Amino acid sequence: MGCGYFVFYEPGMDMAAQHKHALEIDMKSALENQEFELHYQPVVNLQSGRIVAYEALARWRHSKLGLIAPDRFIALAEENNFIKPLGEWVLAQACRDAMTWPKDIRLAVNLSAVQLSNDDIVPIVDRALETSGFPAERLELEVTETVMLERDNSARALKLLKERGVRLALDDFGTGYAGLSTLTHVAFDKIKIDREFVSGLPSNPMCSAIVNTVIDMAEQIGLKVTAEGVENREQVEALKLSGCDEAQGYYFAEPAPLARILKNRAVIAPIAKDEFGDIGRPTQETYCPPQKAI
Ligand code: C2E
Ligand code: MG
Ligand code: MG
Repeated sequence: MGCGYFVFYEPGMDMAAQHKHALEIDMKSALENQEFELHYQPVVNLQSGRIVAYEALARWRHSKLGLIAPDRFIALAEENNFIKPLGEWVLAQACRDAMTWPKDIRLAVNLSAVQLSNDDIVPIVDRALETSGFPAERLELEVTETVMLERDNSARALKLLKERGVRLALDDFGTGYAGLSTLTHVAFDKIKIDREFVSGLPSNPMCSAIVNTVIDMAEQIGLKVTAEGVENREQVEALKLSGCDEAQGYYFAEPAPLARILKNRAVIAPIAKDEFGDIGRPTQETYCPPQKAI
């Protein structure tokens, strides 16, 4: 497998299954060994150019494999229910970290459908808020449309969280299984348009039509919109013209560890309008340099 990394072979398993099995074994001790960490990506208000939130994104710093991106371990953690302790750690750590930020900056945390279908998700969120002292009103929980596959439990949990003042965002909008009906079952505050549609802006007419339609619809039902995966100035311009509220993506900054964000003063000194220009990219030193995860 390379990297001096050993996997345990079990008869009948193919290569992919063996790798998966090895990761699953390692995962169980990774939390205890403090191998998980959180990186933060800014969300920028497109009118003011200011950072209004940071999204916490989990990373696994594996002792042999290096930095592993969540696409490789979240689904696995969901399969073996390791997502429960991992998700609890993410919430607690992110709330603690966000206590060091200015009071007008929100924290966004991803919750998977499996986490939401667990009965104790509400007390887990309560505990993270209580222990850290982070205000519920500044916490934004991001869920995907797959959440509706477990409709009753999840909708109940989301309602209770909403009653505490927590904000709810529908992540990866347009790519899930539940479609528009998700919006009628949960009182979301925000829609996040998936980067699949944003990446086609401004030249792909289909993507432009979808993005414009989603923004119009959101405005009519009183929801804010964040565009995900914004990578260039043309996309920012198109989104501003469409009336999109917020944007997030490599154009502004890649996700980075808390220490780097604090060092670069991106949190402490959110960009001012004149630094942002009419639309343009913020100054390099304001934002965190790119960091690649595998
Ligand atoms: P997401 O919540 O939709 O997060 C956005 C993903 O897009 C992140 O990938 C981010 O690094 C990436 N991204 C941001 N801007 C750009 C861009 O301009 N271009 C491109 N190509 N990508 C961009 P990441 O960090 O690998 O996370 C992938 C997914 O894993 C997340 O998608 C989220 O669904 C899940 N995830 C991450 N952390 C957690 C967690 O703590 N708990 C749970 N349940 N899921 C998590
Ligand atoms: Mg998200
Ligand atoms: Mg997303």
